Formats: sequence, structure tokens, C-alpha cells
Amino acid sequence: MGKKRRILVKFSGEALAGESGFGIDNSILKFIAGEIKELVLNDIEVGIVIGGGNIIRGVSAAKDGIIKRTSGDHMGMLATVINSIAMREALERSGLEVRVQSAIKMEAICETFIVGRAQRHLEKGRVVIFAAGTGNPFFTTDTAATLRAIEIGSDMIIKATKVDGVYNKDPHKFEDAVLLKSLNYEMAMSDDIKVMDDTAIALAKDNKLPILVCNMFKAGNLLNIMNGDENALYSIVK
Ligand code: UDP
Repeated sequence: MGKKRRILVKFSGEALAGESGFGIDNSILKFIAGEIKELVLNDIEVGIVIGGGNIIRGVSAAKDGIIKRTSGDHMGMLATVINSIAMREALERSGLEVRVQSAIKMEAICETFIVGRAQRHLEKGRVVIFAAGTGNPFFTTDTAATLRAIEIGSDMIIKATKVDGVYNKDPHKFEDAVLLKSLNYEMAMSDDIKVMDDTAIALAKDNKLPILVCNMFKAGNLLNIMNGDENALYSIVK
């Protein structure tokens, strides 16, 4: 048996919030769990990183100077733990085995991130959700996801979004916007494209980690992409 494919899927906290933009919508959790389950059933090893923007972001928490930025970022990282626990529940409910590993130790709630242990879980077909970002303020969950993807030897990072991929201009504003199938890291860092923050992209570039940007809300899309479906829409940064 050949080596299994291993991916890391990153999505924002806002994705969990649905229309309201805040909190967690259980029907979305259930939908995402179903999409992840399809991957696992097809022998793909899956790590997940979820943002925290549906609850709190450090920059916004600290904007009027009452809360320090570092404290705001701690709050943001804790928000990702809340989302990770919710996602774990939905994945377990769908019949999968799941572990949450946090970058910040909180032993009553979940495991602490240990790369070797995470790899063992993945080899056993368990989904691993990496919570609490990098554990450090001034980083984003995109950077955390890129870091974890590299650490666990993921084939790529999948940035799962609400759009089909990366466009040359805003598809909501311009009818003639074109989906870019493939772009390089420098293009991905340019101001009008911004696939992820520069720190995340630079880390991916230095470690030759491909970044695949796709729509997570089309049923079956993630698996179609992984199966090399010609009609699947996505952009790849490499
Ligand atoms: N955060 C952090 N360090 C990290 C990752 C995240 O301090 O390594 C904090 C930061 O305040 C950030 C918040 O957690 O605003 C939520 O993460 P992010 O904004 O990336 O979430 P998303 O936009 O993907 O929902």
C-alpha cells in the first residue's frame, strides 16, 4: 500500500458563523463534518485548523486601547479552541475519530500539540484539529495552519473559503474577473490578491508547501478536487 495522502484544511471562524457572522451555526458544523468525512473515507489523512474571527480577533479587541494587543490575541487563540471543540463534536457525531491538540496547554480540555503524536493520530485515520493558533500573539491562524501543515508533512494546505478560488480582481465587483488556476507565491502576496497573510505565504514558499484555495460550501467539492476532477474549481499557489 502506497503512502496515504495527507492534507491540512484551514477555514476561518466566520465560515462557522453562517449568515449571522457571529457564533457557531450547528448546521454548518454538520455540513463541514460531512465533507471531511468523505475525505477520510477515501483514505485521505486530514488535519484541520479553524480561525476564531466569528468570536474575537486580537486586532479588533485591542482597537481602543483598553485591552492590550497581546491579551486580545490570547482571547483570539482561545476563540479558536472554542471552534475546535465544536468541530470535534460534529466530526465525532458523524462517526469519525478526532483529537484536538492545542498550542497552549489546557489539559482538562484537549491534548497539547505534539507533532509526533499528531502524526500517529493521522496514521490511525483520526482527524486532528490544531487549536490555539501558533500559541503566540501577532500571528494568524493562516500562519498557524501553514506551520502545522509543514510540521506534519502535509502534501498541501487547503484554504477552504466561500469563493471558488483566487480571482485577478474582485468577482463581486467585476463581471470580467477571471479565476486564476495557478499562481506563484509572489503573486499570492500581491496586495490585490492576498490569498493569506504574507507571513503564512512566506512560510509556505520557503518550505515549498502548495496552497490550494477552494470553495468549501459546494457539497462534494473537497473530495472532487482531491480526486482530480477536471471540472472542480480551485486555485493553486506553488
Ligand atoms: N491568534 C494569535 N496567534 C496565532 C493565531 C491566532 O494570536 O497564532 C489570534 C489573533 O488575535 C487572531 C485570532 O487569534 O485575530 C483569531 O484568528 P484569525 O484572525 O486568524 O481567525 P480567522 O480570521 O481565520 O477566523
